[in-house]
Amino acid sequence: MLAATNCLTRRSVLASLLAAPAAPLCAQLSVGLQQRLAAAIDRIAIVNTHEHTIEEADRLSAPRDPFLLVGHYLINDLVAAGLPADDAVKLASAESPMEERWKLFAPWWERCRFTGYAQAFRIALADLYGVSEVSLRGMESAREQMQQLSAGFYREVLQRRAHIAYSVLDDYWNGEPTRPDPALFVLARKFDWFVAPNSRPDLERMGEVTGVEVNSLAALKRALDIRIDQNLKVGMVTIKSTIAYQRSLEFLPASEADASRDFVRLLALRQRRTARPEDATERPFRALEDHMFHRLLAVAEERGLPIQIHTGMQAGNSNHAPNTRASLLTPCIRRYPRLRFDLFHIGFPWTGDVLALAKMFPNVSVDFCWAWVMSPSLARRALREMLDALPYSKILGFGGDYRYAELSYGHAKMARANITRVLAEMAQDGAFSEEQAVEVAQAILADNAARLFPRVA
Ligand SMILES: [Zn+2]
Repeated sequence: MLAATNCLTRRSVLASLLAAPAAPLCAQLSVGLQQRLAAAIDRIAIVNTHEHTIEEADRLSAPRDPFLLVGHYLINDLVAAGLPADDAVKLASAESPMEERWKLFAPWWERCRFTGYAQAFRIALADLYGVSEVSLRGMESAREQMQQLSAGFYREVLQRRAHIAYSVLDDYWNGEPTRPDPALFVLARKFDWFVAPNSRPDLERMGEVTGVEVNSLAALKRALDIRIDQNLKVGMVTIKSTIAYQRSLEFLPASEADASRDFVRLLALRQRRTARPEDATERPFRALEDHMFHRLLAVAEERGLPIQIHTGMQAGNSNHAPNTRASLLTPCIRRYPRLRFDLFHIGFPWTGDVLALAKMFPNVSVDFCWAWVMSPSLARRALREMLDALPYSKILGFGGDYRYAELSYGHAKMARANITRVLAEMAQDGAFSEEQAVEVAQAILADNAARLFPRVA
């Protein structure tokens, strides 16, 4: 049984209300309108466009430690505030005494505790573990509650508490095409590895998993096709690309001959290349990468698979954000008009790029995954602008984007509250009726995503 359900005492419900408002009611707006909309939006079973939820059995065998939750996203704010890298590693060490880790954490937490990432963390601790204040005692109490987690925990948190119908899972750590719990997830899978192979060992590994000896550009394409088939067999519903973590989203047309020349040079690299900061802009095998990305898009279009693409700032604390501007994808979007592009993270901070692309092209949707925790007010502003500019059928309103179910819960609560606020404001301004506001919410939180990523049998 889940500790979370056990701890729903009157005290903890009250504490959670005091500690973790997902978004306070807006004083200028009719309270009745906001409350009615909030109730209607709570009833919507979300179709969640993006998660990284680790397998439940793996989660249950990991240390039962609330600092685990600090390790996803919140740690990036702590580091940005000044937490030394060595101390960040120490926080994650569940064997170290809680008190020592609290001393390292507390000064930085104090500065970060109002950010979106911190809000999701506070909501998770308050609502699911009955911890009203992030303190040494609170962390110890959360750790005790976590000891009671058991199988069924994900269904409890994701379905019953967060009211998520199902989620698109990017289990990027999973080298093998296996199927996750079909009650909770459909699959997104990445093939960036085939687009930008590192060196010969990568090509050899592709050979092992596909049975194709990858010794030419043609063989690389054949291996990619086979890998896509393998993943379709386990229920992949969309391709995913996070290649903007490695290089620019500008993919120029590259001829077969130029790509083959790069391939031959790559094949000669017997050792893995180590990553360097310059890699963000210097790509020694660029023609091969450009050619293979176009190949991936062509195959996706031919097979009727959508593609989810990371656009906007990368997670972590040291990457090259200008590589991620969504407008760099314009030539690809024009070249593959039947391929459905799901542009992630509202392209932050170049949100206008994503808006313009979705406004122009029938094959582009904007995706608010990660957005409500990145900055709730920024996401609210973006949603209002998007609703003023776009057919609402093109907006995907929620993707949790977390490894830990508790934080997906916190994020979903923040999304519902902030979407309620935007829709209440627009209804009050006369943009639409209260009934139509609910229609929009149903579309952006469930129906649009369900159309793009239907559950597979
Ligand atoms: Zn993600």
